[in-house]
Parts: sequence; C-alpha cells; structure tokens
Amino acid sequence: MFNNLSDRLRDSFKRLRSKGVLSEADVDATVGEIRRALIDADVALPVVRDFTKAVREKAYGAARSQALNPGQQVVRVVHEQLVEVLGGESRELVFAQRGPTVFMLAGLQGAGKTTLAGKLGKWLRESGKTVLLVASDLQRPNAVNQLQVVGQRAGVEVWAPEPGNGVGDPVQVARSGLAHALENGIDVVIVDTAGRLGVDEEMMQQARDIRDAVNPHEIMFVLDAMIGQDAVQTATAFRDGVGFTGVVMSKLDGDARGGASLSVRGVTGAPILFASTGEGLDDFERFHADRMAGRILD
Ligand code: GDP
Repeated sequence: MFNNLSDRLRDSFKRLRSKGVLSEADVDATVGEIRRALIDADVALPVVRDFTKAVREKAYGAARSQALNPGQQVVRVVHEQLVEVLGGESRELVFAQRGPTVFMLAGLQGAGKTTLAGKLGKWLRESGKTVLLVASDLQRPNAVNQLQVVGQRAGVEVWAPEPGNGVGDPVQVARSGLAHALENGIDVVIVDTAGRLGVDEEMMQQARDIRDAVNPHEIMFVLDAMIGQDAVQTATAFRDGVGFTGVVMSKLDGDARGGASLSVRGVTGAPILFASTGEGLDDFERFHADRMAGRILD
C-alpha cells in the first residue's frame, strides 16, 4: 500500500536526516519533493497546496530553532499534517435512539458496496446487533444474488425483491425492507444501492429517491481507492447529487498511489469512516488517520 508515495517520501526524508543543520533552502527542496510525490500520487491540487504550505511553515520553524535532529522534526511535521488532511480522529457512527438504524451505501458500480454490506453486516452482528441487508441494487443482473451470498457468509438476513415487496422497484424494496425491520425489531438496516460505471443523473435520482424513502442515519459513499484522479470528481458529484455523511475507502490493499484518501476529506469535508483492504469479509477496519499516516510514512 502506498508504495510509490511512501518510497518517494522516505527518500527525501533520508536526505534530510543526513543533515546536521537545516537551512530554509533544504526545507524548500524537501517541500518541493513532497509536492511532486503528492501530485504523482493523484492528490487533488488544492489539497497539495494547503498541505505543502502548512508543512513549509512548520518546517521553517524547525529549521530556525536549530533543534537537534531537524530532519526528524520535519518528518514529524509531515506526519502531523497527514493526520490533519486525513481528518484527525474518526467519529463514531450514528445509530438511531430507537427503532432500526439505516445505513445506505452509495457509489459507482464496482466500488465495493455489496462487499461492504457483508463486511458491515458481519461486524455489526459480531457486536451483538441484528442486521438486515436490503438489495436495492436492481441494476446489475447479479447484484441481488451477490448480496444474498454475502449475507449468508456474514450470517445476516437479506431482503430481496419478491412479488409483494417491490420487484423491479428499488425504492419499494428499500421501503418494504425497512418496514420488515421495524416489525421484527431488527437493529440495523443496510441498503445496497445501484451504481453505474460513471456518474449519471438517473442513478443520482434513484439514490435520492431511496434516501428520501428510508431516511438513512448514515449515507456511506464507497470510493474505490484505485480510481486515482477521478476520485475527487466522483466524490463531488455524489456529494452534490445525493449527499453523504461519510466515506468508505475500498481496495486500499491495491492502492499503489494513495492519493484518493488524501484528497477526499479535504475536497468533500466528509470523514472517512472505514478502510476496506480486501475481498474477505474481515478485510476492513475503522479508519484511523494516525494509522494511515503511519502507513504512508513507514
Ligand atoms: P459494487 O458494484 O459497488 O457492489 O462492488 P462489489 O462489492 O461487487 O465489488 C466489486 C469487486 O471488487 C468485487 O470483485 C469485490 O470482491 C472487489 N472488492 C470489494 N472491496 C474490495 C477491497 O477492499 N479490496 C479488493 N482487493 N477488492 C475488493
């Protein structure tokens, strides 16, 4: 993970550490290297700009202080700044005070929503909650079946379209699923929605209709970390089109560049809630900015 970015940063830090005293020119050279590494890792330009500005100012301070190990101080400054860009401490999920909590998953096709539904379902079940996965992705031919398989592996119930609960109508499936959860005292309803390969208005409208039908406590925007530069545009389109309360970064195991996670918080303002790191149901964790910064700099 983050090999490219990590290697680049490591190289420039190595040069920095070998210096006993740090001049402003040394800081400028390092900040320039960091800037290029971030841009090559597809980090959004405004984020790169703010990041390098903050690092430069703090690193000048370290250089001027004539501290021992000035290079080490700059590394610390970069770590702190990474944590800030990634959103600091991650917040707790929002759960309903009473009645079912609704989590809605949104994102492009292939982003990892259905897989995430299973991961969340298993995680919540293991924490003692009852869970219903609702198959409101009726776009992809195999999506309902895939959710049923995932639900079985996760050990949680799946609500699929059947005559009477909304065949062909994702909004009706969501609504009837929520009613079923209410009647049966199910704690958490996770609504899987359709994504397209690219953002389109029809998909956005459908997501809005589902959102308005079930009133989610959390709308999680699932973002494939591998889509690089497109991440910012996709996230912005979903933010404006549907809105979301948090981001789940998926496929971080395959992310050679890491730019998406560094950009998404700064660009959308929404916190990253989870990091998905594989196809298995246990391959995910709560997102910790500090841990992620550590991985980037390790
Ligand atoms: P959806 O269209 O958004 O529902 O996406 P899926 O959940 O069907 O995932 C698309 C593909 O990505 C599937 O082959 C998943 O196994 C795979 N996938 C999902 N999450 C991850 C992840 O975190 N890492 C990796 N390597 N693959 C993932």
